[in-house]
Amino acid sequence: MMSFLKQYVMSGVSRHYKDETNRRIMVVNLFSAVGVSITFFLGIRALIGQEFPLAIILLTASITFALSQRIQIHFGTPRSRTVSMTLLITCLMVLVFLLLITGGKDNTGPLWIYLVPPVTMFFAGFVRGLLALLVFTIACTLLFFVFDESLLLTSYTYAFKSRLLYSFLTVTFLSAFYEYSRQKSYETALDLSEQFEQQANHDHLTKLMNRRGCQVTLEREYARIQRSKKVFSIAIADIDRFKSINDTYGHEAGDDVLVKISEIFSSRLRKQDILARWGGEEFMFIFPETTSSEAVNVLEELREALSYSAVAIGDSDIHITSSFGVCEVSCALPLADAIRHADMELYRAKESGRNKVCIG
Ligand code: GH3
Ligand code: MG
Ligand code: MG
Repeated sequence: MMSFLKQYVMSGVSRHYKDETNRRIMVVNLFSAVGVSITFFLGIRALIGQEFPLAIILLTASITFALSQRIQIHFGTPRSRTVSMTLLITCLMVLVFLLLITGGKDNTGPLWIYLVPPVTMFFAGFVRGLLALLVFTIACTLLFFVFDESLLLTSYTYAFKSRLLYSFLTVTFLSAFYEYSRQKSYETALDLSEQFEQQANHDHLTKLMNRRGCQVTLEREYARIQRSKKVFSIAIADIDRFKSINDTYGHEAGDDVLVKISEIFSSRLRKQDILARWGGEEFMFIFPETTSSEAVNVLEELREALSYSAVAIGDSDIHITSSFGVCEVSCALPLADAIRHADMELYRAKESGRNKVCIG
């Protein structure tokens, strides 16, 4: 029983959807299940009690609740979800409105009016919910105080009608406030999680992607070439004799130099290329859909540009060089091996005198 209920509530939920969408899908499922059961049960009772107008209203509502849930599951599109929610809200409003007109069982029909504000707010959201509730409130006010003689099939005292509307407006206000704060907290949580994600994948000094972010990008690029059967290239750069910059000018100056180097590299890359801080004074380049010889051309330009650029530290200008190890990645070569090859080539560039681009 529990697993059936769980399956029913979860139907249509997908991990590809946003949390908010999944939550709405689940609540539609739940609400339609509750709606179907209650209206069906009360409808059958009305039928047995030979209250035919009430029975017809309730059973029609029951079918509509069931239908709205099926639409959402069957089509699974954003549009169908909107249709589903609109149908649910409309059905609920019409049902309550008809209960107000007929009075329902022993004039208890109006009690169901308090379901309308929270359900509408939840399904339609703050703005659309408020609009829908405004229309509903106007309709109820007209029914009670303007067309009561001609439309009401039962009679309520003036005190009952006015108090019902006041209390309905109070619940509406509270539901609107609740929905508004819920939406705001959801947006704040979303913003925070994006900020954390950004911080977790980026280096705060150079603002480049860090090793973690780079690893994810490498894996994504690798997955892409498994499908396309194309190649991409990677290169690891290590700044030459960086320790001596720290030793001579201090660690902070070293940090500034790292930022400047990252700017020089970034400004000369093509739009599609990716630069990340791989660690300390090492950078990783990713060249999508690029052979190693094409990558070498780009890197040779970078290497020259860096060695000719005068990097200012305080009053002095210094010239910095970097060594590069390149590797072409194809789907036959495991990613970890490709990174190792690039590292080995970098080592070779260092061994053979630095300020070089080496390729296996
Ligand atoms: P080479 O690579 O040419 O062999 O010489 P190197 O001096 O660059 O090599 P080594 O790996 O010995 O030194 C790297 C230095 O980079 C040591 C470390 O203090 C410095 N370094 C690493 N990360 C940072 C950083 O974030 N800021 C600063 N200022 N220095 C860093
Ligand atoms: Mg190093
Ligand atoms: Mg170095």
